[in-house]
Amino acid sequence: MSAAIIDGKKIAEDIRREVKEAVLRLKAKKGIVPGLAFILVGEEPASQSYVRSKGKACDELGFYSVTEKVDVSIPEGKVLSMIDGFNRDPKIHGILVQLPLPKHINEQKVFEAILPKKDVDGFHPINIGRMMTGAETFYPCTPAGIWELLKRSNINPSGKHVVVVGRSNIVGKPIANILMQKREWCNAIVTIAHTAAPDLSYYTRQADILIAAIGKAHAITSSMVQPGVVVIDVGINRVVDRTTKTGYRIVGDVDFDAVKEVAGAITPVPGGVGPMTIAMLMMNTLKSAQRA
Ligand code: NDP
Repeated sequence: MSAAIIDGKKIAEDIRREVKEAVLRLKAKKGIVPGLAFILVGEEPASQSYVRSKGKACDELGFYSVTEKVDVSIPEGKVLSMIDGFNRDPKIHGILVQLPLPKHINEQKVFEAILPKKDVDGFHPINIGRMMTGAETFYPCTPAGIWELLKRSNINPSGKHVVVVGRSNIVGKPIANILMQKREWCNAIVTIAHTAAPDLSYYTRQADILIAAIGKAHAITSSMVQPGVVVIDVGINRVVDRTTKTGYRIVGDVDFDAVKEVAGAITPVPGGVGPMTIAMLMMNTLKSAQRA
C-alpha cells in the first residue's frame, strides 16, 4: 500500500494563516508590527530566490521587512556593523543573514553578532545552548519545521527510533537534539548517521522515523527502509531534466516513487519540509515581536 503523503505545503499554509491572524491581534493590542531584516551578500541565484520568498512571506503576513543587498566583496566589518544597526533598531525583531557567505566573512562571527533575542534563525551559540538544555528559545527553522510537521500529522516520536542521516549544524544536529528531549512530542531514541557509517542501510533499516538531510539526490532507496517507516525528506537537489523550461528539477534525498510504496508516511519534495522552513521563520519572528 502506498504511504500517506505528509502535505508540508498545506500545513505551512495553516501556520502562515495563524501567524497572520496573530500579527493583526498584536498590531491592534500593542501597536507592534513584527519586523524582519535580511542581509544578502552577493548574487548567488539560490540565495536571491530564498530571500525573495521570505520577503514575499513578510508582505503576505503583514510584517515589516528590510533587505540589504550588498556586493560579494563587502568587508566582514561592514556586515557586522549592519547587524549592529539592526540590533539597535526597535522596528526589527528578527535578523537573517542568508547563507552561504563568501569565504572572507566568518560565519560564526556573524551568528554571534546578532542579539540572541533577534536571532530568529536560532544559530547564536546562546540559543543553541538553550535548545540543548531544553530551555525556551528560537529553534533553527528547518528542524522546527520538521518537528511541527510531525506534531500536526499526529506522528508522536516518543519511544520511537528516529534515525537522522546528516549531522550539519542547521539540520541534522538540531533535529536530533530536539527529538531526544524529555518532553511531549519528543522523547525519541535517536541515532545520527553520516559518511563514516560503513553501511548506511544498517542504520536506516532500523528507523521508525527516518530523517534524510544529506544533500544527495535519491540517496535513500526502498531497500534501505523498513515497511511502515515515516520518512522526512529534507534534501533539495537539482537534477538535470531536459523536459522542463529550466533544464532541471528539484528532488529530495529519498527515491520518493519507490520509497512511498514501502513507507507508512512520507514528505514529498517539493512541498514537504521546504515550505515549513519559511513558515517557522515567520513564527519565530512573531514570537520575538510578541516578547518585545
Ligand atoms: P550538509 O552538506 O551540511 O550536511 C550533509 C550531511 O549529510 C553531512 O553530515 C554528511 O556527512 C552527510 N552525508 C552526505 N553524504 C552521505 C552519505 N552518502 N551517507 C551518509 N551521510 C552522508 O547539508 P545540510 O544539512 O545543510 O543540508 C542537507 C540537505 O537539506 C541539502 O540538500 C540541503 O539543500 C537541504 N536543506 C533543505 C532545507 C529546507 O528548507 N528544506 C533547509 C536546509 C537544508 P559528514 O558530516 O560525514 O560529511
